[in-house]
Amino acid sequence: MPEEPDPDLLEGIVLRSTGSLYDVQTPEGAVRATIRGRFRLEESAQTNPVAVGDRVDVRRLAGGAAVIEAVHPRRNRLSRRAAGRRVGHEHIIAANIDRAWIIQSIRMPKINTGLIDRFLVMAGSMDVPAGLVFNKTDLMQPADAEAVGFITELYAGIGYPVVLTSALTGEGAEALRAAVAGQVSVVSGPSGVGKSALINRILPEAHVPTGAVSEATRKGKHTTTFATTYPLPGGGFIIDTPGIREFGIIELEPEELSFYFNEFRPFLPECRFLNCTHDHEPDCAVKAAVEEDRVTPERYDSYLNILASLRMGGADVGR
Ligand code: GDP
Ligand code: ZN
Repeated sequence: MPEEPDPDLLEGIVLRSTGSLYDVQTPEGAVRATIRGRFRLEESAQTNPVAVGDRVDVRRLAGGAAVIEAVHPRRNRLSRRAAGRRVGHEHIIAANIDRAWIIQSIRMPKINTGLIDRFLVMAGSMDVPAGLVFNKTDLMQPADAEAVGFITELYAGIGYPVVLTSALTGEGAEALRAAVAGQVSVVSGPSGVGKSALINRILPEAHVPTGAVSEATRKGKHTTTFATTYPLPGGGFIIDTPGIREFGIIELEPEELSFYFNEFRPFLPECRFLNCTHDHEPDCAVKAAVEEDRVTPERYDSYLNILASLRMGGADVGR
């Protein structure tokens, strides 16, 4: 006998989490749920067993309550602290992400390529595709044009979508809207780059506080690190993480790092040593590629910087 479908068991996506309550989007509307205590204990490797973006089974109980009974396997996840390295310390920021965008501004504050590269390594090491947004194009001076053009071509050329925007004038808003349409996107970036203003551009009904107001809200609740989710009209949603510092330390072995520099990859099998770190070793194909202009010195320097911090115990994504 086939099992009867259970009308009280729904499948949904977690849109919000406050640590003990979860808002789950289901085919029958939004459901606010808790999780079973048993379930908490079983998932002891993480500080939060259920995260935004998780696909879950949620059971409606008598009296309007609901409880999450199971979390479906995750396609990927962004975590503070890499999985498995320190049991009990993984905090999942979001799961099942189509793309993580790092937002930077052309001026005030200016583009920080070191931070971009650490973000790209972090996302790559967690199997999350990444993209870049350069905001505040309205502040671009003739003197910035060459550098911005170079950086845009560099990252687009190594496989990352790049979108130039101005939240002030609306330039690029359509391109950004198209890039996130129907997807689960995480947006992150240093404070002041215009993350909130951009979300308001794409979703005017979101009413995210910006500038001084947003700074005040942040300071007022600096201990809360829960992500905010904005559903998109045509499906998918944007997850706004509290800040790039949230991602903490990249925990990779030094010899693993080059794998997350996309454009180094074709050269890696050509190095003499399998565990080449591409700094002091002889017959290094990555160094040769830099000499031949097939890898930019900028990215190679950035690689060496992250390598040095990994050797000292971890590369901080926030700095
Ligand atoms: P967040 O900290 O990344 O969320 O940044 P906000 O959205 O709060 O913006 C920080 C400041 O930059 C605010 O004063 C915004 O008005 C301003 N801002 C945001 N986007 C732009 C832009 O595209 N151009 C200009 N000129 N200012 C912007
Ligand atoms: Zn090498």
